[in-house]
Order: sequence, then C-alpha cells, then structure tokens
Amino acid sequence: MAKILQDTTKSGKQRPWRERKIENVKYADYLEMLHYRKARRVKECGEVLRFIADDEGRLKLAQTWFCKSRLCPLCNWRRAMKQSNQLMQILQVAVGREPKGRFIFLTLTEENASGTELKSRLREMTRAFNRLIKYKKVAKNLLGFVRSTEITVSANETYHQHMHVLLFVKSSYFASSANYLSQAEWTKLWQKARKLDYMPIVHVEAIKSNLKKGKNSLLASAQETAKYQVKSKDILTDNQERDLRVVEDLEQGLAGSRMLGFGGLLRDIRKELQLDADEENENLIDTSGDDEEIGDKVREVVAKWNFERQNYFV
Ligand SMILES: [Zn+2]
Repeated sequence: MAKILQDTTKSGKQRPWRERKIENVKYADYLEMLHYRKARRVKECGEVLRFIADDEGRLKLAQTWFCKSRLCPLCNWRRAMKQSNQLMQILQVAVGREPKGRFIFLTLTEENASGTELKSRLREMTRAFNRLIKYKKVAKNLLGFVRSTEITVSANETYHQHMHVLLFVKSSYFASSANYLSQAEWTKLWQKARKLDYMPIVHVEAIKSNLKKGKNSLLASAQETAKYQVKSKDILTDNQERDLRVVEDLEQGLAGSRMLGFGGLLRDIRKELQLDADEENENLIDTSGDDEEIGDKVREVVAKWNFERQNYFV
C-alpha cells in the first residue's frame, strides 16, 4: 500500500510539499493555456522526490528535478529557504569581520506599474539603486548591502514593485547628524536617484545586529530580503481570467531580471564562501539549512506525485 509522504522538520513541522506542488500544477496549467512551451517542464517539477532517511525516519532531500521557472511555487519555496540560509551565513561572517557594523533595513518603493511597463520600471529601479549607494552621504559609511525586488499585485491589476535592502554600515553612521540619514533624507535621496516628480514611500528601520529570532532582528530582515519575489497567492486566485493576465505580465516583466544583488563586503564574503552560483546553476535540493541535518542514512525513500489524488505517495 502506498503511503502519503511525511516530511517534517526538526521541530515537527510538516514541510509543505503537497501545498506547493498543487500550486505548481495550477501554475503549469496556466502556462499551458498561455501556450508557453515550458508548461510541460514546469508540470514535471518535483514530480519524483528521492530522500535519504535516518533511523528516526527524518528525511533529507537527495534528488529530484526542479524546473527553476521564476514563478514556480515549488522552486520559490526552496529558493527562499536556501537564500535566507545562505544570507545568514554571509551576515555571520560579516559581523565577525566588522563587529561594530550595524544593519539598516530599507524598503524603497515607487508608484505602481502597468503590466507592459513592469520590465523597464524594474530595470530603472535597479539603476536608481546603484546611483543611491554612490551618493556621498550613503557611500561614506557603507560596508556592504544585499537587495531584492518584490512585486505584489494590486486589486486593479497594476504591479507594486519595491526593493528591500539590507545595508551594513559603519557604526559612525549613527554617531552624528553629519553621518546619520533620517527617513525624510532617505526619501529625498531615493526620489533624486529614481528621478521621480513625486515623493516616494521609503521605510527605514535600524536592525539589532544579533543573530537571534524576533522582530527587527537580523534573521527577520534576512528572511524578508530573501523571500519570494512574487507570492503564489498573487498569481493563483479563484479568478482564472485575471490570473492568466497576471501570469503573462509577470512572465514577460521578470524575464532576465535578477532577484538578489550583493555589494561591498557582503559580495566579497559571498564569493569567498562560494555561494555566488548564478540562478541557472543554483542547487535547490540542498537548501543549506541546519534543520535539514539528519542522522546516518539508513534507507532511501522515494515519493511520487499522484496528479489525481493530489498528494505525494511513498
Ligand atoms: Zn519548479
């Protein structure tokens, strides 16, 4: 008798294989309706999962095939885990090297874009960010940064593209008004860099440099930076016509864009730790997480997706 796959984390939480695969299939169906050739490949994503199991029955993914399509819910779940784990490794090294350094979490926004504008607006946003960090008052205290773009879909089907940036700065940033940038100043600088004729919304938060859990912690900011570029719930609603338009817009808009960008010390450390594989070559099987560590391998577990019964069976 085939059994339903049970894959839990150390703390006993069920890993969301089934939920993400159901979303993946719906996304693949949309691609098919939109006549994307990759639809078939996307549907095969994570169809067969090979795990190694320890004597307590805990599993570690050993082999599967991931489609790596930018909007794939299954790949994005793995990618977000991997990127936040790797980012934490990088940040830990950075803190070790610059113990006095401080972190600031910036969110840079602009007015929504239409589907056809999205691609060029994302490109302009990246260019504007590169100008922002070169401004003297920003550059003089900057040790490094990591940035990501996120896109949410508004009710009127326009796109809210914004940038999350974790800045690593010298402690002198907070030492005097000649160095410190208020929220109003960040807003003005972003307006200038982005060449906007209106005041954009900018959030600034100082982050506690400890690596423990909690709000305003470095871990929370790393997770926020490394999370989904587009959330599945924004492309998969109960309105199919709307979803098809949104998937089409995002497939076009995100093509060729990069999700994460690193600079300064954080880029150097990422390189040293050899975590700088490009997105095509990224390995989504090993997500570099501590909670994936298991005991000695005692057997292999193979789970296969059943399209009719909508679950993984071993
Ligand atoms: Zn996938």
